[in-house]
Amino acid sequence: MIKIERPERPKIPIYNTKNTKLDRNAAKETAMRDSLVLLIDGAIPHFESIFERLLNGGKFTKAEVETLKAIVFFADKTNFDNDEKLTTKKNLKFTVYKNDVLRENLKAVFSNKCAYCESNFTHVTPPDIEHFRPKAAINPFTNQIDEDLIYPGYYWLGADWDNLLWSCPLCNRKTKQIIPDFVDPLPVGKKNRFPVSNNRIRHHHDIVSDEEPHRLLIDPCKEDPADHLEFQLDGLVKAKEDDQGNVSAMGEASIPAYGLNRADLKRWRKEEIINLKGFLIGIKSTLIRFISETDPDIKVELEEEFLMIKGFIKHKFSTESQYIAQKEVTIDEFFKNEGIDSIGFTKEGLLS
Ligand SMILES: [Zn+2]
Repeated sequence: MIKIERPERPKIPIYNTKNTKLDRNAAKETAMRDSLVLLIDGAIPHFESIFERLLNGGKFTKAEVETLKAIVFFADKTNFDNDEKLTTKKNLKFTVYKNDVLRENLKAVFSNKCAYCESNFTHVTPPDIEHFRPKAAINPFTNQIDEDLIYPGYYWLGADWDNLLWSCPLCNRKTKQIIPDFVDPLPVGKKNRFPVSNNRIRHHHDIVSDEEPHRLLIDPCKEDPADHLEFQLDGLVKAKEDDQGNVSAMGEASIPAYGLNRADLKRWRKEEIINLKGFLIGIKSTLIRFISETDPDIKVELEEEFLMIKGFIKHKFSTESQYIAQKEVTIDEFFKNEGIDSIGFTKEGLLS
């Protein structure tokens, strides 16, 4: 997992074009507006403009309509109460996150790689648009143990740009996977898991930033996963320990939640280590020759080779490339052990 720079919410029709009504039926539209005026506090900055439009008959964006419908649906105490689902009725259908233009934007932000495991996968299976804070129900996943779902989930974030990630199905869904050191396959994958140490927000008036200091899953768009995860040279990943021996709680919760040590994933990280190491061993002598050569004609010839080496390394670390976090560790370790830095080459220099 690597840090992703998420740009501001894109100016695309689902978020910007206010041309949608709450309901096609005029009477239902009026009834919904009346309910929403009671359910929404117009003094909260996020709802100010929506509240005004509720009162003056204005229209909404598609994302706003979905959020408003979710507020009405989940406020109905005959459906949900005390964390229980009281009905067999299906949850409200969230569809805005499936919007084609939105998907293209997310694909670009995440360089078409899974936000969690960094795999390229869309050539074999379609992507999941993942809700970081689960929209319909929450598995509190306290101490990394699955628990009964609590209802509703973060229903008001179903279409929220900052809550959506590009994910492979194995990180996003729950499947049984072989995990090294465990005899039986274990259920891994995020699904509804969303542990927090305190202060869980449950209502559309709540502010996400109040919960953030207590969040236990790594959001690669917020913090640098390298501060919480330590990739090993055997392909396994473990929670990072600081100098005082404190283990990252975020690392500890995120590894099982996303299934980052599932055997098949570990195997492909290992494959990357072998490939990159093989390449680095192969170029070592060229780098030494290049730095020590004094004959200008031979130096020109070697320069061509050197540029090819740089090009290959840059390609291996381009944002579209898989398992960069694992490769960072591999190249750092190699440069340290083989004394590459001391002959005048740094990883940063080769990547520049
Ligand atoms: Zn994944």
